[in-house]
Amino acid sequence: MMRKPPWHTLSLLSGAKGVKADWRDFPERFLTPTNELAKAFPCPKGRGCYMDVVTHKDGTRVGLCPDAPNGCGKRILEKTDLIVYQPNLNVIFSAIGAAFGMTNATQTKLDGLTQCWQIGDYNPAASHRFPVIVSFEGKTQSLERMIGILATRIEKPFFVLLPTASTITSTVQDIASRSSAKLFAFEDIIEISSKGDIQSRTDAVNVIQAASSGWLPVKDCAFSYPTPAGAEWGGFLFEFTADEKLTVSYKKDNFKQVCPEDLGMRNKHTKKPTKLWAFLKMLVQVNGQMSVHDIEKVKPTKQAVSKALKHVFQLDSDPIEWSSKNSQYETQFVIRKAANTKLSFEGFSGLE
Ligand SMILES: [Zn+2]
Repeated sequence: MMRKPPWHTLSLLSGAKGVKADWRDFPERFLTPTNELAKAFPCPKGRGCYMDVVTHKDGTRVGLCPDAPNGCGKRILEKTDLIVYQPNLNVIFSAIGAAFGMTNATQTKLDGLTQCWQIGDYNPAASHRFPVIVSFEGKTQSLERMIGILATRIEKPFFVLLPTASTITSTVQDIASRSSAKLFAFEDIIEISSKGDIQSRTDAVNVIQAASSGWLPVKDCAFSYPTPAGAEWGGFLFEFTADEKLTVSYKKDNFKQVCPEDLGMRNKHTKKPTKLWAFLKMLVQVNGQMSVHDIEKVKPTKQAVSKALKHVFQLDSDPIEWSSKNSQYETQFVIRKAANTKLSFEGFSGLE
């Protein structure tokens, strides 16, 4: 049987700091000592009261329950009893991050919110990124306020990870769903292995995927390229194999045949490729570097091509950038034609 996960202690202690006695069953290996010595010590009887720590002239320390004489009495304390420990965020956040597919989770503190960090983004495909927030907030009211603030700042769906499900009341849940946020307790995502390490749960990937499936845009065109998560334009190869056909691949993988209509570049009435497609063909002729004399004439076409590519390949960045140094448009991807392919520009009257 798995023991009850210890994460709830993270939201019980103010500032997630405390002496060993405060941390109780929280695994010692996930704690890091600070330079602070506590001025109060939890009373041994578990009544929730704290002893005041008094240092005598001979250096001995004594904890005294303020409820004396009816309280818990007093006891001698060693210096080591009073060392304040904090959790090793790196270890905990890395395990959570791994469940979201992050290779290196960060600890970016969020302004104006206590005990709240962005550890990275969940990037299920292409440029679709959703922030992953971890908070140790243990009070429901503060949590409601926090989610509201996050929603106005982030303006897109996000995840919030909390040490325990007990803070996720139905009111908190309501506010979250109105803010397009998904809440998870740590125990939904991470667990302690039999060796005592923190690891992501094997089913976490599915849980996360199911929770966020509605966040990805619905495909509104018949063709959509399987752009891998975190992909950049630099990994793409566009290779024309005929006048109306090209093969797109990403890092020598995911080969797809692409026709003008796949990119929305075929005129529905004339059935001929549009000038956007012609623009791509022209880029082949100049190895992806098109010098431009009158930028105002070419720009609208270039913009339309960029927009179409960003849409189909679901990437945010511009695939064709303007280089003012070289006065030319430069593709961020490689564009060329296959050996022995001839491209025709017959009937083509320029890009204006
Ligand atoms: Zn006491």
